[in-house]
Amino acid sequence: MHETRTPLLEVEDLAVEFDTPRGPLRAVRGVSFQVGECETLAIVGESGSGKSVTAHTLMGLTPLLARVAGGRVAIEGRDVVGLPDRAWQKLRGERIAMIFQDPLSALNPSLTVGYQIAEMFRRHRGTGRAEARRRAAELMAQVGIPDAERRLNDHPHRFSGGMRQRVMIAMALALDPILLIADEPTTALDVTVQAQILRLLRRRQQADRLGMILISHDLGVVARAADRVAVMYAGRIVETGTVAEVYQRPAHPYTIGLMRAVPTVRDGDAPLEAIEGHPPDLAAPPTGCAFHPRCPFARDVCREEDPQPRDLGPRRASACHFAEEMIAHARTR
Ligand code: SF4
Repeated sequence: MHETRTPLLEVEDLAVEFDTPRGPLRAVRGVSFQVGECETLAIVGESGSGKSVTAHTLMGLTPLLARVAGGRVAIEGRDVVGLPDRAWQKLRGERIAMIFQDPLSALNPSLTVGYQIAEMFRRHRGTGRAEARRRAAELMAQVGIPDAERRLNDHPHRFSGGMRQRVMIAMALALDPILLIADEPTTALDVTVQAQILRLLRRRQQADRLGMILISHDLGVVARAADRVAVMYAGRIVETGTVAEVYQRPAHPYTIGLMRAVPTVRDGDAPLEAIEGHPPDLAAPPTGCAFHPRCPFARDVCREEDPQPRDLGPRRASACHFAEEMIAHARTR
């Protein structure tokens, strides 16, 4: 995939903490990645891995009781951590936009979708009522909503799940952002509609040269939609690389476990295996490697030393003491 020299998004050593009665909970630690033009980076992991906190932080929407404890986030080279609310209100929508798993919770149920899309133009661009409505209809047609002119007058509950997600995509794209964050955009949809929405996102991405972050727990969706993958566990990126690299030669036992638990990416007819155990309590994480209590490959060193990311090639890394062995293990399976 083509990539610009200055990435659209740079995240360096990001740390996000929650204040809890038991002390700070480190929900995101040392997270670094970049996203270029026309590129999709998928962030995958179980719930509680830190992927959604990361995504919301990139939108300037740090969850309640959370704060950015360190690191840098730059959009088109501009540092955005700590920007005042007014500046964020302008950035959101105009440079970076987000679509959610559940469009119903993001749309206002008492307003027509036409009004809600037109509002984007009116509020951000000062566009007149008739022109804003015309552009809303145009956008709805562009995202594949049939009979767009008439459907402007419908409320969100009158749309099917797939069509509602198209409305969300139209709203997200209204102000021509350069970055789109899609947080589990197809999780609530059936497989056929899921494929249609992924195709739509890819088409819009190519037409508008968007950088995209896809947050997902579904490795099947990621295989179809992303260029690169960052696997998160216990608030850290434990493996990163292209989809082909990570899927064909996983270099971290957690990634291997995730792949064995997904029917669409496992080999042949091998039985599905869930990863045993639970993600750690981030207020009291295990010593050494955070994955060691669940890792079938753990050795003494894993309980004692926190593995740092090992460089395995250009933009390819794994935070496992035995990353090279894991690749060899994947080759022989
Ligand atoms: Fe497993 Fe050890 Fe690698 Fe952690 S460092 S993932 S415990 S082998």
